[in-house]
Amino acid sequence: MYSKIKKSIQIVKQCFCKDKYGITLEEGERIVNTITKIFKFEAAHQLSEYDGKCNQLHGHSYKLEIEIDADIKINSLSEKAPKGMICDFAKLKKYVKENIINKLDHSYLNDTIDNPTAENLIDFIVYEFNTHCIQSPLVRVRLYETDTCYAEWRKE
Ligand SMILES: [Zn+2]
Repeated sequence: MYSKIKKSIQIVKQCFCKDKYGITLEEGERIVNTITKIFKFEAAHQLSEYDGKCNQLHGHSYKLEIEIDADIKINSLSEKAPKGMICDFAKLKKYVKENIINKLDHSYLNDTIDNPTAENLIDFIVYEFNTHCIQSPLVRVRLYETDTCYAEWRKE
């Protein structure tokens, strides 16, 4: 059993050890074409036009997934990525925090967005992300309002 596991580890290693096994992936030959970073923030809202529970003032713990295209650089992320990376996750984190999360976290969303449904929040997030880019690398934004409900935007 152990030797079987060891053998499968060896096979996995062969796929990724370029020097030892002669696999050389040049820039542009990478098979991974997007990366995703997940963010969390807390915020309050009130949907006064909605006939249901959400017309009361209440809060959510939002989860936000930001997926970016490997081939397009964001302005502030445009320096060459570290070897083997599409984009440094730390830089993507800083960019999204500065331009989006800091505007929403622990806020009353109605002060920033009219009728702040998950769908309208995504419109705001995509707009804010793209405002700071010459050519936007955004390919997908998914926003969870609860563990079981999310809205999603995808680049066409
Ligand atoms: Zn709500």
